[in-house]
Amino acid sequence: MSDRTIFERIVDGEIPARVVHETETTLAFLDASPLAPGHTLVIPKEPYERLRDAPEDVAADVFAVVRELTPRIEDAVEADAVNVGINDGPEAGQEVPHLHVHIVPRFEGDGGRPIHAVAGESPDLDDDELDRIADAIGGG
Ligand code: AMP
Repeated sequence: MSDRTIFERIVDGEIPARVVHETETTLAFLDASPLAPGHTLVIPKEPYERLRDAPEDVAADVFAVVRELTPRIEDAVEADAVNVGINDGPEAGQEVPHLHVHIVPRFEGDGGRPIHAVAGESPDLDDDELDRIADAIGGG
């Protein structure tokens, strides 16, 4: 049995998708179970599992497409706004192990919530912890 991801099979044309944009290194198509009209996924054609796995140039290509498509999607479905996000790892909700960026159109009064709603309870971090985390991320 193949362990290729469902998105690789879309890239290879083995299963259908509503493709909205294609470049040499990326593909964008409508999500099959949309959270809103126009919900679109942008993927690298190569099956990098997580953002950290994608080479910088490929990640740049993916985000350039996100930038290009976001206003087009918004206009196409007459959305008021969009959420852009990645479930980057299973604990963050990633189900398909092939990097993908969700573009989810949002509408005034749609009952949805901001991206802040994705995590659990907010941690109570003191100044020392915040300093330590900032240093660890910044490499200081
Ligand atoms: P995630 O939880 O971030 O891995 O999201 C995977 C997304 O892929 C979900 O929103 C699914 O609805 C979507 N999806 C799964 N299979 C397909 C497919 N064959 N075509 C389009 N979207 C799909």
